[in-house]
Amino acid sequence: MPFAALGLVPALTRAAGTQNFIVPTAIQAAAIPAILRGQDVLGRAQTGSGKTAAFALPLLQRLIAGRSETPRKLRALILAPTRELAVQISEVILALSRSFPQPLKTVVAFGGISINPQMMDLRGGADIMVATPGRLLDLIDRNALKIGDVQTLVLDEADRLLDLGFADEINRILSLLPVFRQSLLFSATFPDSVQRLADNILLNPTRIDVEAKSDAGPAIVQRAIEVDSRRRGELLTRLIHDNGWTRALVFVATQNEAEQLSYLLCHVGINAAPFHGELSQRKRSAALADLNSHALQVVIATDVAARGLDIPQLPVVINYDLPRSADDYTHRIGRTGRAGESGLAINLVSAETEAHFRLIENRNKFRLPRERIAGFEPAQTAVLPAAVPAGGIKGKRKSRKDKAREAAARGET
Ligand code: AMP
Repeated sequence: MPFAALGLVPALTRAAGTQNFIVPTAIQAAAIPAILRGQDVLGRAQTGSGKTAAFALPLLQRLIAGRSETPRKLRALILAPTRELAVQISEVILALSRSFPQPLKTVVAFGGISINPQMMDLRGGADIMVATPGRLLDLIDRNALKIGDVQTLVLDEADRLLDLGFADEINRILSLLPVFRQSLLFSATFPDSVQRLADNILLNPTRIDVEAKSDAGPAIVQRAIEVDSRRRGELLTRLIHDNGWTRALVFVATQNEAEQLSYLLCHVGINAAPFHGELSQRKRSAALADLNSHALQVVIATDVAARGLDIPQLPVVINYDLPRSADDYTHRIGRTGRAGESGLAINLVSAETEAHFRLIENRNKFRLPRERIAGFEPAQTAVLPAAVPAGGIKGKRKSRKDKAREAAARGET
């Protein structure tokens, strides 16, 4: 089915063509007609499914059909959890709207850098704003922006917005928006908090559910390799060499570990850089640009990088440390196998983390065979639930997580 069949006008189908979007992805085919009709949309989709263009194309069509005033009144507001995602969305919008005879003005704003250039950008108003919630409120508080004329609100990666603690900011923003508006909410996962938010802001939404492994979605091969925790660095180096990966994203649990592991890899001749929340925006952007241009071979990231980043044709993601939650697992491995390409996700599982990995498997309803690499066979074996001290691993009493891990290891959940 071509884009034109979805109700897009020639200017927008041409814009899609300039990006080599010839056939709509599943979420685009479902979302574009609904958004053009003015309906609210509740979309379950990962980054990588083509969801940015799924809302950007119809949004742009509605905006060019409308009347622009001087100064420009903000008509579309897109909230994103991270600066990387906000920048990415604004780049897609700019690319799709570049050839319009009367260009729409898109402004992107996020925290962590000076607010002044963003206030300057907003002089004369804007048609579209892509922002992280905190910085958006700062701009509103400084009278740089009014959102009382917004016609369409997009919440992108709503689960991540709530995970990052933006619930209060979102509520304040909602209170400043017009009651009559179109609202679109996209999320990779739907815990109760996201469902409540969706119930609160959406009116009779069109529900769209795109599984990660849909036709348009990524095909990700997942592997679990058993290794002693202290030998993971060595094994990682071996895997990178043996497989000839020219680019890889490695996830670790802490900023410190990201620093140390990239130092270790550089030491053995693998060009690696850390990527975490404490680094300046300039360093984070440079690491991504270098990975994209093959100047850098490996990025070692904390979960700040797990969502929203679009690194084309990233062949492999490695969980050096396992993620804390099953949802984070989904987000992490979604960095590989983008837009129909195949990808590989490797998990390094040690005796200490076996029970936790089983929990992730159970929650996400998959089970991987455990592999061993010659020379890296683990000396330690997983602690069986029965051998876990009665008080649990962390504290004196078993936490809910400890109990869930034990049940998972027994195959009960
Ligand atoms: P997103 O889920 O919006 O982050 O998009 C993931 C990737 O898919 C990006 O690299 C897009 O450029 C690409 N993409 C989006 N829509 C299409 C399409 N219809 N055909 C081919 N690639 C697409």
